[in-house]
Amino acid sequence: MSDTIFDKIINREIPADIIYEDDIALAFKDINPQAPVHFLIIPKKQIATVNDISKDDREIVGHLYWLAGEIARKEGFAEEGFRTVMNCNEFGGQTVYHIHVHVLAGKPLGWPPY
Ligand code: C5P
Repeated sequence: MSDTIFDKIINREIPADIIYEDDIALAFKDINPQAPVHFLIIPKKQIATVNDISKDDREIVGHLYWLAGEIARKEGFAEEGFRTVMNCNEFGGQTVYHIHVHVLAGKPLGWPPY
């Protein structure tokens, strides 16, 4: 699998506003925010899409979602609520082929998405 722009962020080859990092994951502010709070949580492991998540990756993916709640609690928007989204392939609106959880918060969010 070839590197994506997110590998370059992990490797500090391009800048990003990083808000959290550990051995498994990295979180950074989305460069084109769609809500007052919008950041991405990505695994350090290369996994292209939701379709490519293997049984062995379950702990990694669970970690991404655990982190969403953890950061929400620390940043103070857990109680008012937020949205997590993982887009998959063309119809899902995926543009970067390295899985990422979008975390959107800071205002009431519309549903359904069009
Ligand atoms: O779900 P999707 O693949 O479309 O999301 C990719 C996201 O990555 C976009 O929201 C885009 O703004 C963000 N991005 C970023 N920093 C980059 C490149 C893309 O935050 N350097």
